[in-house]
Amino acid sequence: DKHHYDVAVIGAGAAGMMCAAVAGQRGLRVLVIDHASKLAEKIRISGGGRCNFTNINAGPNNFISENPHFCKSALSRYTPQDFLSLVKRHKIAFHEKHKGQLFCDESAEDIIRMLKAECDVAKVNWRMPCKVEQVRQDAAGFVLETEQGEIHAAKVVIATGGLSIPKIGATDFSYKVAQQFNLKIVAPRPALVPLTFDAASWEAFVPLSGISLEVDIETGEKKNKVVFREDLLFTHRGLSGPGVLQISSFWQEGQSIRVNLLPEVDLAQDLIDAKTTSKKNLANYLSGYLPARLVDGLLLAHGFAGDLKIADMQDKRLRLLGEKINRWELLPNGSEGYRKAEVTRGGVDTRELSQQSMMVNKVPGLYFIGEAVDVTGWLGGYNFQWAWASGVAAGLAI
Ligand code: FAD
Repeated sequence: DKHHYDVAVIGAGAAGMMCAAVAGQRGLRVLVIDHASKLAEKIRISGGGRCNFTNINAGPNNFISENPHFCKSALSRYTPQDFLSLVKRHKIAFHEKHKGQLFCDESAEDIIRMLKAECDVAKVNWRMPCKVEQVRQDAAGFVLETEQGEIHAAKVVIATGGLSIPKIGATDFSYKVAQQFNLKIVAPRPALVPLTFDAASWEAFVPLSGISLEVDIETGEKKNKVVFREDLLFTHRGLSGPGVLQISSFWQEGQSIRVNLLPEVDLAQDLIDAKTTSKKNLANYLSGYLPARLVDGLLLAHGFAGDLKIADMQDKRLRLLGEKINRWELLPNGSEGYRKAEVTRGGVDTRELSQQSMMVNKVPGLYFIGEAVDVTGWLGGYNFQWAWASGVAAGLAI
């Protein structure tokens, strides 16, 4: 009948569709419910429309969690190679872009079609758009109160993701259900997100917007220090680009970030050496290393005259300039927030869940998977790998 199922999966995104396909292919009667009218909108917009669907090097070290060991089990039982086999079986063309990141050649739609086809084989049922108002337990399992009436399911999987991009349907549903069942939540916050600065302190750098270059970027101190070598992009409001997105997931309010704009050169030493070998002025000399527009903007912003001959400059000034380029310290005042964040850090505390099955320890039959859980991947296909792996773990265990 249309009202009773073995499993109800709430959220037809990456993790929910994967979980539904796996559970359904084991012979369970599965229903997927989503308040959106289209499947997996986030897959559709991911990776610039080409979906960076996994990273061949993904391992537990590429994830942030208050409980870093939790993700190991699921990740080791469903690997990037396993997902890649599925992609190949569906004859989806793909390529490696950078550092193990795999993208569709054509379109992210290929991945959505693949997951839908896997669900079709599994005879998964759909109810969408359909809003779930409440989840409660009864003697037989769970009752979902929806805008289309009651649905009964022995098991319920919460796969409604995090808070990023409310415009395409993100909600706090997963955290609300967690609260209702008295589960601990690691405070959610935007991650993989551009960082912003006070208008006054950023003014001098606004003319650099649009410039992109590879840098070393770091935040945190001592054993909490993290460094990425990736591209950085200047914007009107602050900094973006892969390097900044990576760092944003670790950055805490009030902390500074350090940027090395020229990671392969010790610039202070290089400039001091150049005093005896180069007749160039500062701007011309630096243009040998960095884009001219960046050089001009940085010299102006940091108060150096570009037409000074290097040979005429004091070592002290050259050291100061070297520091501004090799160890530029900045204090973000915040981020672009959930409107622009690719993921949400935090979520349902993993200590409430079984690492084997994703089931809530104290609520048998209730599962949380995907981004709703406090496991957050770096930029580069890791977040989808977690969605697939946690979805499969639950799909096999139910
Ligand atoms: P989602 O895929 O977000 O699915 C959640 C589903 O739940 C949605 O269908 C939503 O409509 C539904 N839902 C929400 N609330 C309710 C509710 N109250 N009732 C019913 N249904 C609800 N990761 C990568 O690995 N590679 C990438 O290339 C990549 N690119 C990205 C680009 C952008 C712009 C963004 C925003 C994210 C990107 N990510 C990428 C992150 C990745 O998309 C997510 O981590 C992943 O989709 C999480 O999967 P999920 O199934 O947990 O949640």
